[in-house]
Amino acid sequence: MPELPEVEAIRSQLETFLKGHKIEDVIVSDKRSFLGDRRDIIGSCFVEFSRFGKVLFLGLDNDFSLIVHLKLTGQLVYRGPNLRKPPPLSEKIVGGLPGRYTRVVFKLDRNGFLYFNDLRVFGWIKVVKNSEFKPEELVKRLGYEPPAVPSPSLPTLTLKDFSNILSKSKKAVKLILMDQEKIAGIGNIYANDALFLAGIDPRRPANSLRDYEQNNLYNSIIKVLKDGIKRGGSSENTFVNVDGTEGKYQDFTFVYGKVGQNCPRCGAEIKKIQLGGRGTYFCEGCQK
Ligand SMILES: [Zn+2]
Repeated sequence: MPELPEVEAIRSQLETFLKGHKIEDVIVSDKRSFLGDRRDIIGSCFVEFSRFGKVLFLGLDNDFSLIVHLKLTGQLVYRGPNLRKPPPLSEKIVGGLPGRYTRVVFKLDRNGFLYFNDLRVFGWIKVVKNSEFKPEELVKRLGYEPPAVPSPSLPTLTLKDFSNILSKSKKAVKLILMDQEKIAGIGNIYANDALFLAGIDPRRPANSLRDYEQNNLYNSIIKVLKDGIKRGGSSENTFVNVDGTEGKYQDFTFVYGKVGQNCPRCGAEIKKIQLGGRGTYFCEGCQK
């Protein structure tokens, strides 16, 4: 599932590629992937690129907007004049473009195309009338957002909020980091790395962290999410960037995916356990 860094990377790439493009036609191959009337958006231009939690909001210059949820396997890929030298498509774009998993194609002016591919068909694009759009409904089950992006789309997680959340639970601290109803946007890769950077054992009860540990962990979360955004997210599953390439964060993790390798800090062997059903990587030498 794409998390905050991936969706934010997509948002900023869509802004680069789509700004000013006009929608000339919309070809829908799978009705489950496109909700609303395509005629409402034909002839309009993309003008606004926002994000509410993990949902993308693409504002048009008429009375309508598009809401996009990539869910598990959704991919948005652009080809056209704003991408002068298109890089080769990632192999994660199964079936090519357009291909058997292309559910929606936006035909743009100046021979541009935006493809929506979705292997599992859980993702969707929805046309909404601006006067009926309620952003709060997109984010009602999401908690605070760490301030890793310039303008968070949810209430910003302050150190004080973070400290309150941790001190109220004796669950393993890693599970709290990944609880989207408390803190939105931290996926498994980023939770592992943030705990490593802060030197905290992922199994520790959340309420056992001392002030300086809460502070270190808070700053580590912001750092790994910022790194994730900078590297175009991570492409562990089917996630790809809008230019059709893969995110790079998975090539720069500290402990995630590195079982049996040496800890970059102390040299001890990196361990892997299951915690809440998710692969959890850590160094017993320097995470206490
Ligand atoms: Zn270590």
